[in-house]
Amino acid sequence: MKALRLESWHSEPRLRDVPLPEPGPGQVRVQLGGAGACHSDLHLMDEFSDGVLPWGPPFTLGHENAGWVHRLGEGVVGLEPGQPVAVVGAWGCGSCRRCLAGLETYCDRPDLAPAPGGGGGLGLDGGMAEYMVVPSARHLVPLPEGLHPADAAPLTDAALTPYHAVRRSREKLVPGSVAVVIGIGGLGHLAVQVLRATSAAYVVAVDPRASARELATRSGADLALPPGEDLVAQVRAAGHGLGADVVLDMVGSDDTLATSAAVARQLADITVVGIGGGSLPFSFFGVPYEASVQTTYWGNRSELVEVLDLASRGLLHAETTRFSLDDAAHAYELLRRGEVDGRAVVVA
Ligand code: NAD
Ligand code: ZN
Ligand code: ZN
Repeated sequence: MKALRLESWHSEPRLRDVPLPEPGPGQVRVQLGGAGACHSDLHLMDEFSDGVLPWGPPFTLGHENAGWVHRLGEGVVGLEPGQPVAVVGAWGCGSCRRCLAGLETYCDRPDLAPAPGGGGGLGLDGGMAEYMVVPSARHLVPLPEGLHPADAAPLTDAALTPYHAVRRSREKLVPGSVAVVIGIGGLGHLAVQVLRATSAAYVVAVDPRASARELATRSGADLALPPGEDLVAQVRAAGHGLGADVVLDMVGSDDTLATSAAVARQLADITVVGIGGGSLPFSFFGVPYEASVQTTYWGNRSELVEVLDLASRGLLHAETTRFSLDDAAHAYELLRRGEVDGRAVVVA
Protein backbone atom coordinates (compact mmCIF):
# COMPACT_ATOMS: atom_id res chain seq x y z
CA MET A 1 0.00 0.00 0.00
CA LYS A 2 1.02 3.67 -0.37
CA ALA A 3 2.20 5.63 2.67
CA LEU A 4 3.70 9.11 3.20
CA ARG A 5 6.90 8.45 5.13
CA LEU A 6 9.11 10.74 7.18
CA GLU A 7 12.39 8.87 6.74
CA SER A 8 14.76 11.14 8.66
CA TRP A 9 14.78 14.46 10.51
CA HIS A 10 15.23 17.57 8.33
CA SER A 11 13.78 15.92 5.25
CA GLU A 12 10.67 16.16 3.09
CA PRO A 13 8.21 13.27 3.41
CA ARG A 14 8.17 10.70 0.59
CA LEU A 15 5.38 8.56 -0.81
CA ARG A 16 6.51 4.93 -0.58
CA ASP A 17 5.14 1.44 -1.10
CA VAL A 18 5.00 -0.38 2.23
CA PRO A 19 3.52 -3.74 3.27
CA LEU A 20 -0.11 -3.82 4.39
CA PRO A 21 0.08 -3.79 8.22
CA GLU A 22 -1.45 -6.81 9.97
CA PRO A 23 -3.26 -6.29 13.30
CA GLY A 24 -1.78 -8.40 16.10
CA PRO A 25 -3.82 -9.72 19.04
CA GLY A 26 -6.00 -6.95 20.47
CA GLN A 27 -5.17 -4.57 17.61
CA VAL A 28 -7.38 -3.17 14.86
CA ARG A 29 -6.62 -2.29 11.25
CA VAL A 30 -8.36 0.86 10.03
CA GLN A 31 -8.95 1.80 6.41
CA LEU A 32 -8.24 5.53 6.29
CA GLY A 33 -10.95 7.94 5.25
CA GLY A 34 -8.98 11.07 6.14
CA ALA A 35 -5.75 12.21 7.77
CA GLY A 36 -5.21 15.86 8.71
CA ALA A 37 -1.96 17.69 7.95
CA CYS A 38 -1.01 19.35 11.25
CA HIS A 39 1.52 22.15 11.61
CA SER A 40 3.27 19.99 14.24
CA ASP A 41 4.39 17.74 11.38
CA LEU A 42 6.21 20.74 9.86
CA HIS A 43 7.94 21.36 13.20
CA LEU A 44 8.94 17.68 13.14
CA MET A 45 10.28 17.88 9.59
CA ASP A 46 12.07 21.19 10.03
CA GLU A 47 13.21 21.59 13.61
CA PHE A 48 13.67 18.28 15.40
CA SER A 49 16.70 16.03 15.55
CA ASP A 50 17.92 12.91 17.36
CA GLY A 51 17.57 12.93 21.13
CA VAL A 52 14.94 15.68 21.40
CA LEU A 53 12.03 13.22 21.53
CA PRO A 54 12.01 9.63 22.78
CA TRP A 55 11.06 8.49 19.25
CA GLY A 56 11.96 9.39 15.69
CA PRO A 57 11.79 8.51 12.01
CA PRO A 58 11.20 6.46 9.98
CA PHE A 59 7.42 6.37 10.34
CA THR A 60 4.29 7.18 8.34
CA LEU A 61 2.97 10.70 9.01
CA GLY A 62 -0.60 11.55 9.98
CA HIS A 63 -1.67 11.83 13.63
CA GLU A 64 -5.27 13.02 13.14
CA ASN A 65 -7.10 10.15 11.59
CA ALA A 66 -10.50 8.64 10.93
CA GLY A 67 -11.74 5.84 8.71
CA TRP A 68 -13.51 2.50 8.82
CA VAL A 69 -12.70 -0.58 10.87
CA HIS A 70 -11.11 -2.98 8.38
CA ARG A 71 -9.81 -6.01 10.23
CA LEU A 72 -9.99 -7.05 13.90
CA GLY A 73 -7.00 -8.65 15.59
CA GLU A 74 -7.50 -11.75 17.70
CA GLY A 75 -9.71 -11.16 20.72
CA VAL A 76 -11.12 -7.76 19.72
CA VAL A 77 -14.83 -7.47 20.44
CA GLY A 78 -17.31 -4.61 20.16
CA LEU A 79 -16.30 -3.35 16.72
CA GLU A 80 -17.52 -4.39 13.27
CA PRO A 81 -15.62 -4.22 9.97
CA GLY A 82 -16.95 -1.28 7.96
CA GLN A 83 -17.85 0.74 11.06
CA PRO A 84 -16.75 4.41 10.79
CA VAL A 85 -14.36 5.40 13.59
CA ALA A 86 -12.11 8.22 14.77
CA VAL A 87 -8.64 7.30 16.01
CA VAL A 88 -7.67 8.41 19.52
CA GLY A 89 -4.20 9.74 18.83
CA ALA A 90 -2.23 9.51 22.09
CA TRP A 91 -1.27 5.93 22.89
CA GLY A 92 -0.27 5.36 26.52
CA CYS A 93 0.42 2.12 28.39
CA GLY A 94 -3.26 1.74 29.33
CA SER A 95 -2.67 0.63 32.90
CA CYS A 96 -0.86 3.38 34.87
CA ARG A 97 -2.90 5.76 37.05
CA ARG A 98 -2.95 8.49 34.39
CA CYS A 99 -4.04 6.10 31.64
CA LEU A 100 -6.70 4.61 33.91
CA ALA A 101 -7.99 8.16 34.45
CA GLY A 102 -8.20 8.53 30.66
CA LEU A 103 -5.14 10.76 30.37
CA GLU A 104 -3.10 8.74 27.91
CA THR A 105 -1.40 11.95 26.79
CA TYR A 106 0.35 12.00 30.17
CA CYS A 107 1.03 8.27 30.64
CA ASP A 108 3.26 7.63 33.66
CA ARG A 109 4.89 4.61 32.04
CA PRO A 110 5.76 5.72 28.51
CA ASP A 111 8.36 2.94 28.50
CA LEU A 112 5.44 0.46 28.43
CA ALA A 113 3.45 2.41 25.78
CA PRO A 114 3.41 1.45 22.07
CA ALA A 115 5.30 4.67 21.23
CA PRO A 116 6.82 6.32 24.32
CA GLY A 117 5.23 9.77 24.43
CA GLY A 118 3.97 9.47 20.85
CA GLY A 119 1.39 7.57 18.82
CA GLY A 120 0.37 6.84 15.25
CA GLY A 121 2.05 9.43 13.03
CA LEU A 122 4.30 10.43 15.93
CA GLY A 123 6.95 7.71 16.05
CA LEU A 124 4.69 4.87 14.93
CA ASP A 125 2.97 4.57 11.57
CA GLY A 126 0.08 7.00 11.19
CA GLY A 127 -2.77 7.66 8.81
CA MET A 128 -1.25 9.17 5.66
CA ALA A 129 -1.61 5.74 4.11
CA GLU A 130 -4.32 3.45 2.89
CA TYR A 131 -4.42 1.55 6.19
CA MET A 132 -3.04 1.85 9.72
CA VAL A 133 -3.08 -0.39 12.77
CA VAL A 134 -4.12 0.96 16.18
CA PRO A 135 -2.82 -0.82 19.29
CA SER A 136 -6.20 -1.50 20.86
CA ALA A 137 -9.94 -1.02 20.46
CA ARG A 138 -9.86 1.72 23.14
CA HIS A 139 -8.01 3.88 20.61
CA LEU A 140 -11.09 4.03 18.40
CA VAL A 141 -14.30 6.01 18.93
CA PRO A 142 -17.31 5.17 16.71
CA LEU A 143 -18.35 8.15 14.58
CA PRO A 144 -21.80 9.61 15.10
CA GLU A 145 -24.13 9.03 12.19
CA GLY A 146 -23.68 11.40 9.28
CA LEU A 147 -20.09 12.41 10.03
CA HIS A 148 -17.73 11.38 7.20
CA PRO A 149 -14.22 10.26 8.26
CA ALA A 150 -12.61 13.00 6.10
CA ASP A 151 -14.50 15.63 8.12
CA ALA A 152 -13.97 13.79 11.41
CA ALA A 153 -10.19 13.37 11.06
CA PRO A 154 -9.29 17.00 12.02
CA LEU A 155 -11.58 16.75 15.03
CA THR A 156 -9.17 14.25 16.65
CA ASP A 157 -6.48 16.93 17.07
CA ALA A 158 -7.32 20.31 15.50
CA ALA A 159 -10.60 20.36 17.51
CA LEU A 160 -9.67 18.09 20.41
CA THR A 161 -6.58 20.11 21.38
CA PRO A 162 -8.43 23.45 21.68
CA TYR A 163 -11.35 21.64 23.34
CA HIS A 164 -9.00 20.36 26.05
CA ALA A 165 -7.44 23.83 26.40
CA VAL A 166 -10.80 25.61 26.62
CA ARG A 167 -12.07 23.06 29.14
CA ARG A 168 -9.21 23.90 31.50
CA SER A 169 -10.38 27.52 31.55
CA ARG A 170 -14.10 26.82 31.68
CA GLU A 171 -14.63 28.66 34.97
CA LYS A 172 -13.16 31.86 33.57
CA LEU A 173 -15.30 31.80 30.42
CA VAL A 174 -18.38 33.24 32.09
CA PRO A 175 -20.84 35.61 30.38
CA GLY A 176 -19.08 38.97 30.03
CA SER A 177 -15.65 37.36 29.67
CA VAL A 178 -13.34 37.88 26.69
CA ALA A 179 -11.39 35.08 25.01
CA VAL A 180 -8.64 35.78 22.47
CA VAL A 181 -7.48 33.17 19.97
CA ILE A 182 -4.15 33.95 18.28
CA GLY A 183 -3.54 32.06 15.00
CA ILE A 184 -6.62 31.00 13.05
CA GLY A 185 -5.36 27.96 11.17
CA GLY A 186 -6.39 24.34 11.61
CA LEU A 187 -6.56 24.56 15.41
CA GLY A 188 -7.55 28.21 15.71
CA HIS A 189 -10.73 28.13 13.61
CA LEU A 190 -11.93 25.18 15.68
CA ALA A 191 -10.88 26.91 18.92
CA VAL A 192 -13.24 29.76 17.98
CA GLN A 193 -16.05 27.25 17.37
CA VAL A 194 -15.35 25.41 20.65
CA LEU A 195 -15.53 28.71 22.54
CA ARG A 196 -18.77 29.58 20.75
CA ALA A 197 -20.32 26.17 21.40
CA THR A 198 -19.32 25.78 25.05
CA SER A 199 -19.17 29.31 26.50
CA ALA A 200 -20.73 32.74 26.38
CA ALA A 201 -17.36 34.51 26.05
CA TYR A 202 -16.86 37.36 23.60
CA VAL A 203 -14.40 35.86 21.11
CA VAL A 204 -11.60 37.85 19.47
CA ALA A 205 -9.58 36.13 16.73
CA VAL A 206 -6.14 37.32 15.63
CA ASP A 207 -4.36 36.39 12.39
CA PRO A 208 -2.31 38.36 9.84
CA ARG A 209 -4.04 36.58 6.92
CA ALA A 210 -7.30 38.14 5.70
CA SER A 211 -8.68 34.73 4.64
CA ALA A 212 -8.02 33.37 8.14
CA ARG A 213 -9.85 36.33 9.68
CA GLU A 214 -12.79 35.70 7.35
CA LEU A 215 -12.76 32.05 8.44
CA ALA A 216 -12.72 33.21 12.08
CA THR A 217 -15.79 35.34 11.48
CA ARG A 218 -17.59 32.44 9.73
CA SER A 219 -16.57 30.27 12.70
CA GLY A 220 -18.35 32.63 15.08
CA ALA A 221 -15.72 35.12 16.26
CA ASP A 222 -17.19 38.43 17.44
CA LEU A 223 -14.14 40.33 16.24
CA ALA A 224 -11.27 39.33 13.92
CA LEU A 225 -8.14 41.47 13.97
CA PRO A 226 -4.66 41.49 12.42
CA PRO A 227 -1.71 41.58 14.81
CA GLY A 228 -0.45 45.13 15.17
CA GLU A 229 -0.16 48.19 17.25
CA ASP A 230 -3.80 48.73 18.11
CA LEU A 231 -4.54 45.09 18.85
CA VAL A 232 -4.05 45.50 22.59
CA ALA A 233 -6.24 48.62 22.68
CA GLN A 234 -8.96 46.91 20.64
CA VAL A 235 -9.00 43.83 22.89
CA ARG A 236 -9.15 46.08 25.94
CA ALA A 237 -12.02 48.01 24.42
CA ALA A 238 -13.85 44.72 23.80
CA GLY A 239 -13.19 43.75 27.40
CA HIS A 240 -14.66 46.87 29.05
CA GLY A 241 -11.20 48.41 29.11
CA LEU A 242 -9.76 45.49 31.06
CA GLY A 243 -8.48 42.88 28.61
CA ALA A 244 -8.87 39.18 28.02
CA ASP A 245 -9.82 36.56 30.60
CA VAL A 246 -8.45 33.71 28.49
CA VAL A 247 -5.83 33.83 25.74
CA LEU A 248 -5.19 30.79 23.54
CA ASP A 249 -1.91 31.22 21.68
CA MET A 250 -1.95 28.83 18.72
CA VAL A 251 1.41 30.13 17.45
CA GLY A 252 3.75 30.34 20.44
CA SER A 253 6.38 32.68 18.99
CA ASP A 254 8.15 35.42 20.96
CA ASP A 255 5.79 37.96 19.36
CA THR A 256 2.54 36.13 20.03
CA LEU A 257 3.54 35.28 23.61
CA ALA A 258 4.30 38.97 24.22
CA THR A 259 0.92 39.84 22.69
CA SER A 260 -0.77 37.20 24.86
CA ALA A 261 0.65 38.75 28.03
CA ALA A 262 -0.17 42.27 26.82
CA VAL A 263 -3.86 41.56 26.12
CA ALA A 264 -4.42 39.48 29.28
CA ARG A 265 -6.07 40.99 32.33
CA GLN A 266 -5.51 40.10 35.98
CA LEU A 267 -6.50 36.49 36.84
CA ALA A 268 -6.35 35.52 33.14
CA ASP A 269 -5.32 32.18 31.73
CA ILE A 270 -2.62 32.45 29.06
CA THR A 271 -2.60 29.06 27.38
CA VAL A 272 0.19 28.24 24.95
CA VAL A 273 -0.82 25.61 22.42
CA GLY A 274 1.43 26.51 19.47
CA ILE A 275 4.95 25.14 19.58
CA GLY A 276 6.54 28.07 17.77
CA GLY A 277 9.61 27.98 20.00
CA GLY A 278 9.17 31.42 21.57
CA SER A 279 9.54 32.33 25.21
CA LEU A 280 7.72 34.68 27.54
CA PRO A 281 9.91 36.53 30.03
CA PHE A 282 8.31 35.94 33.40
CA SER A 283 8.61 38.23 36.36
CA PHE A 284 6.36 39.58 39.08
CA PHE A 285 5.37 42.67 37.12
CA GLY A 286 5.87 41.07 33.68
CA VAL A 287 2.44 39.42 33.57
CA PRO A 288 -0.83 40.65 35.13
CA TYR A 289 -1.40 39.71 38.78
CA GLU A 290 -2.53 36.12 39.25
CA ALA A 291 -2.43 35.36 35.55
CA SER A 292 -1.64 31.70 34.87
CA VAL A 293 0.67 30.78 32.03
CA GLN A 294 0.24 27.19 30.91
CA THR A 295 0.91 24.85 28.05
CA THR A 296 -1.53 22.15 26.97
CA TYR A 297 -1.04 18.99 24.97
CA TRP A 298 -3.71 17.31 22.82
CA GLY A 299 -6.72 15.78 24.61
CA ASN A 300 -8.12 12.49 25.77
CA ARG A 301 -10.64 9.91 24.66
CA SER A 302 -13.61 11.16 26.69
CA GLU A 303 -13.03 14.69 25.40
CA LEU A 304 -12.97 13.31 21.84
CA VAL A 305 -16.37 11.72 22.47
CA GLU A 306 -17.63 15.18 23.49
CA VAL A 307 -16.03 16.85 20.45
CA LEU A 308 -17.67 14.31 18.13
CA ASP A 309 -20.98 14.95 19.84
CA LEU A 310 -20.65 18.70 19.20
CA ALA A 311 -19.84 17.93 15.54
CA SER A 312 -22.80 15.59 15.16
CA ARG A 313 -25.07 18.42 16.34
CA GLY A 314 -23.56 20.87 13.84
CA LEU A 315 -21.82 22.93 16.54
CA LEU A 316 -18.31 22.12 15.30
CA HIS A 317 -17.31 21.85 11.67
CA ALA A 318 -13.76 21.61 10.39
CA GLU A 319 -13.21 23.66 7.24
CA THR A 320 -11.23 21.26 5.07
CA THR A 321 -9.45 21.07 1.73
CA ARG A 322 -8.97 17.51 0.50
CA PHE A 323 -5.78 16.20 -1.08
CA SER A 324 -5.03 12.74 -2.50
CA LEU A 325 -2.23 10.69 -0.98
CA ASP A 326 -0.19 11.45 -4.13
CA ASP A 327 -0.56 15.18 -3.33
CA ALA A 328 0.02 14.91 0.43
CA ALA A 329 3.54 16.35 0.30
CA HIS A 330 2.08 19.34 -1.60
CA ALA A 331 -0.48 19.86 1.19
CA TYR A 332 2.40 20.29 3.64
CA GLU A 333 4.10 22.68 1.22
CA LEU A 334 0.98 24.88 1.13
CA LEU A 335 0.71 24.68 4.94
CA ARG A 336 4.33 25.81 5.24
CA ARG A 337 3.58 28.77 2.95
CA GLY A 338 0.50 29.73 5.01
CA GLU A 339 -1.83 28.98 2.09
CA VAL A 340 -4.23 26.54 3.76
CA ASP A 341 -7.50 27.84 5.18
CA GLY A 342 -8.75 25.54 7.94
CA ARG A 343 -7.29 22.05 7.63
CA ALA A 344 -5.73 20.13 4.72
CA VAL A 345 -6.99 16.54 4.85
CA VAL A 346 -5.34 13.71 2.95
CA VAL A 347 -7.76 11.15 1.60
CA ALA A 348 -6.26 7.84 0.46
P1 NAD B 1 -1.70 26.32 11.00
O1 NAD B 1 -0.49 26.53 10.17
O2 NAD B 1 -2.90 25.66 10.38
O3 NAD B 1 -2.20 27.71 11.63
C1 NAD B 1 -1.32 28.66 12.16
C2 NAD B 1 -2.01 30.02 11.99
O4 NAD B 1 -1.27 31.00 12.73
C3 NAD B 1 -2.06 30.50 10.54
O5 NAD B 1 -3.38 30.88 10.21
C4 NAD B 1 -1.11 31.69 10.54
O6 NAD B 1 -1.51 32.70 9.60
C5 NAD B 1 -1.24 32.19 11.96
N1 NAD B 1 -0.14 33.03 12.42
C6 NAD B 1 1.17 32.94 12.09
N2 NAD B 1 1.87 33.93 12.72
C7 NAD B 1 0.97 34.64 13.44
C8 NAD B 1 1.07 35.76 14.31
N3 NAD B 1 2.24 36.36 14.55
N4 NAD B 1 -0.05 36.23 14.90
C9 NAD B 1 -1.25 35.63 14.68
N5 NAD B 1 -1.40 34.57 13.86
C10 NAD B 1 -0.29 34.07 13.26
O7 NAD B 1 -1.22 25.48 12.28
P2 NAD B 1 -2.04 24.46 13.21
O8 NAD B 1 -1.96 23.10 12.60
O9 NAD B 1 -3.34 25.06 13.55
O10 NAD B 1 -1.10 24.42 14.50
C11 NAD B 1 -0.91 25.58 15.28
C12 NAD B 1 0.20 25.35 16.28
O11 NAD B 1 -0.24 24.42 17.28
C13 NAD B 1 1.49 24.72 15.70
O12 NAD B 1 2.61 25.26 16.36
C14 NAD B 1 1.33 23.25 16.03
O13 NAD B 1 2.55 22.57 16.07
C15 NAD B 1 0.70 23.35 17.40
N6 NAD B 1 -0.05 22.19 17.89
C16 NAD B 1 0.03 21.97 19.23
C17 NAD B 1 -0.69 20.94 19.78
C18 NAD B 1 -0.65 20.72 21.26
O14 NAD B 1 -1.16 19.69 21.72
N7 NAD B 1 -0.09 21.61 22.04
C19 NAD B 1 -1.50 20.12 18.98
C20 NAD B 1 -1.55 20.39 17.60
C21 NAD B 1 -0.83 21.45 17.07
ZN1 ZN C 1 -1.21 17.81 15.60
ZN1 ZN D 1 0.09 4.80 31.10
